[in-house]
Amino acid sequence: MTRFLRIYLLAIALPALLLAVFGAFLLRADARARAAELAENRRWRAERTADDLQASARRLLDARLDRLAALPDAPARLAALRELAAADPYVRNAFLWREKEGCVWPRRTGATEEERRFLNRCEPLFSGAVPWTPPSTNAAPSDASAPSRGYRPWAAGDRHELLAWVRTAPGEICGFEFETMRFLADLAADWLESPYSQRLGLRNTWRRTARQSAPRLLGSLHDPSGTPLVPPVADPADPTPFDPSAEASLLPLFPDWHYRLSPARDASAASGWLPGDLLSGALSAPALRLAFGGVLFGLLLLSLVAGGAVLLRAARRERLDALRKTDFVSNVSHELRTPLTSIRAYAELLAADRLPDPARRRRALDTISAESARLSRLVDTLLDFSRLDRGTRPLSPRPLDLAPLAAEIADSAPSRPAYAPPPAPVMALADPDAVRQIVLNLLDNAAKYAPGAPPTLELAPLPSGGATLSVLDRGPGIPPRDARRIFDRFVRLDNSTTRTTTGYGLGLTIARRLALSMNATLTYSPRSPSGSAFTLTLPPVPPSPCAPPPSRESTHNPNP
Ligand code: ADP
Repeated sequence: MTRFLRIYLLAIALPALLLAVFGAFLLRADARARAAELAENRRWRAERTADDLQASARRLLDARLDRLAALPDAPARLAALRELAAADPYVRNAFLWREKEGCVWPRRTGATEEERRFLNRCEPLFSGAVPWTPPSTNAAPSDASAPSRGYRPWAAGDRHELLAWVRTAPGEICGFEFETMRFLADLAADWLESPYSQRLGLRNTWRRTARQSAPRLLGSLHDPSGTPLVPPVADPADPTPFDPSAEASLLPLFPDWHYRLSPARDASAASGWLPGDLLSGALSAPALRLAFGGVLFGLLLLSLVAGGAVLLRAARRERLDALRKTDFVSNVSHELRTPLTSIRAYAELLAADRLPDPARRRRALDTISAESARLSRLVDTLLDFSRLDRGTRPLSPRPLDLAPLAAEIADSAPSRPAYAPPPAPVMALADPDAVRQIVLNLLDNAAKYAPGAPPTLELAPLPSGGATLSVLDRGPGIPPRDARRIFDRFVRLDNSTTRTTTGYGLGLTIARRLALSMNATLTYSPRSPSGSAFTLTLPPVPPSPCAPPPSRESTHNPNP
């Protein structure tokens, strides 16, 4: 057994556990790599989106700067500039600035409230204190070598603006303050509808449409204060902010703006999930993944333990079976040798004419006869068992009145059982020889193991058809834990009665197999206060119009 356990542990349990642990590590590493890859992918998407938003802005700004560059010369220029600014929704304030004169338009005198605030905001630029070009350019816009146009992100107080300008003449700059907020909002909305965004899988990451829902990534454009310009599609009931997993700044045009992509927090709540996404979606939560892994690991352990237990049981059974067989062989050898020795001894005495007394000769002959009968019973039992084991003893159950058969068995049994014949025929489907063999065996057992009082044989019809034939005794009974296994082959209980009686542990095995071959059952139940009840339950006669009449034969025990 210990050898078997060692083999099981080394060959099955340990490798399986190692594989499971190794698999768990691999899965964890894979999950980490996947998470890193996903984060990288999101960052890349966010950067592409930020670039795209800026490229669109640049196209729009360039078109406006082209128009400014094409303005007519003074004096019509100012009027044309005003007209252009008024007609363009993305121009908040336009301006004309000259190096020598400062801001030519709008002028402080007669300026509207908005214009005054604009002039205040951009005072450092208009006064020349701050260059129009970014510091790295190192060139004044009035220089001939300086760039002829440019963009100037401009922050004043809590306002972050973008100024676009074009050099319309040496020392003269014409430009406008951009409606950043409005532009980005419009652009974002349009842009997300574009085929490009759809290809990137970003459509609906911003807004939900009726047809396509369940965004797995949420995109949001955040203004310099961090407020999302277009709020991400979030459950309004869930005010928790999304953890930004990828963020890209809209440098250089809108340096303080950010585009963020976040995984949808409540993705499972959204409708329209693809079935394949369900598991991966559900398992995206670490706690759930852990629980799932735990359950799988538990199942593995359970199957290992269960498999081990089954194998162990099978091994123990085999061992017991082998022990029983050895016991059986030694029992049978003993059983064969004892009668053979007596037969041989008496035969030799008779042959040598050493028993002159006729009474002693008679006893010797009786012993030889009894011992040969015992031998032939043993051989019959062994043959029976082997035929039943190989399935070569077919039975032919037929409709039978059991009352005369039971009476005949009761008469012929050496244990002389008590039997009360029933008042009416008791019909069942049975093979008379098999019934006789079973009941005689049970009566024989009762005589062997409950020798105190003669057993009782009871025949009773069943209300649903069929009948029961029971052998009852008042012996010690069978301990409950052994009640099932007494029907197994070669099983003899280890107690004082079995030690003083002969047997091979085959009688009940044969009896039960015979019963099964007739579609009958043979069961044991304990009796109160003590004793055993073995019950043979025979099936009813099937209803048939041409059923043969009940057999009233009173067969004499032709040994099967
Ligand atoms: P055998 O009688 O040859 O030992 P059986 O298969 O007939 O084999 O019986 C198996 C075991 O069941 C017996 O060894 C005995 O321990 C137990 N047994 C059978 N019948 C009785 C009984 N009526 N009372 C107590 N024990 C019994």
